[in-house]
Amino acid sequence: MQIVDSITAIKAKIKEWRQQQQSIAFVPTMGNLHQGHLSLVEKAHKLADKVVVSIFVNPLQFDEQADLSAYPRTMDADIEQLSSVNCDLLFMPTVQMMYPQGTGRYSTVVVPGMDDKLCGQSRPGHFDGVATVVSKFFNIVQADIAIFGEKDYQQLLLIKKLVLDLNISIEVHGSPTYREQSGLAMSSRNQYLTDIERDNAAVLYQILLDVKKQLEQGQYDFATLQQQAMEKLKLAGFKPEYVEIRRAEDLELATKKDNKLRVLAAAYLGEARLIDNIACYLA
Ligand code: AMP
Repeated sequence: MQIVDSITAIKAKIKEWRQQQQSIAFVPTMGNLHQGHLSLVEKAHKLADKVVVSIFVNPLQFDEQADLSAYPRTMDADIEQLSSVNCDLLFMPTVQMMYPQGTGRYSTVVVPGMDDKLCGQSRPGHFDGVATVVSKFFNIVQADIAIFGEKDYQQLLLIKKLVLDLNISIEVHGSPTYREQSGLAMSSRNQYLTDIERDNAAVLYQILLDVKKQLEQGQYDFATLQQQAMEKLKLAGFKPEYVEIRRAEDLELATKKDNKLRVLAAAYLGEARLIDNIACYLA
């Protein structure tokens, strides 16, 4: 695996591959890699000849400086894991390289309709930061395909809309959420959980499954289902932010006519803000 930290170097490598008619898949990450990230790399290998992974903790998408500073950075372990799944190129730019003018006065990409609901409500500016850095990466890497996890379902739809709205020549693919045996969605933020909280954390997924089951049984009172799920989370020791049943296609409010739904939740358990979501396709 080749590791580059400069934009000039990665562009040169991409140009070389292009001349060799190689197709390229791109997996952007913030590092602190786990099996969920590696499953995206494995999918990328099935879809293209070469796989590029980026590791960049993007200051623009953090609402709080403390959260940014505390974000786990595990470079050596990340490099080892990426080598084990045959990543071809790892791009690890510095903040200075990505934002040479500083992060304060930067052109920003905004994806209206996708950035201000669900997680966007409690994290204002977060999705603008994501859309901006992903646009920059797409311009730098010039890949054919990009892979994002369904774990961050709102982010996945935001990137799909961004690509459509701005006519960016890249195919965006989603990849299923990789879970612990308990059902807990793998996440870099799980390490903020204590041992006792970790044992309890899979309740979030169980509650989403429970909502899905009730929807499948014909319970269509979305507000009641959401409210009951919030109460169950509180009883289990979570501080829930939201549990929402939305239209899978665009995350707009669902109606009884919609049969492709997504059940999404965000909740604090101790210090960790956990998010999860599942598909619910009704017959
Ligand atoms: P992050 O490093 O958290 O920004 O995540 C980088 C990419 O990995 C994003 O596309 C995430 O959606 C994806 N990802 C994170 N956790 C998982 C997981 N448990 N399963 C599948 N994809 C994931």
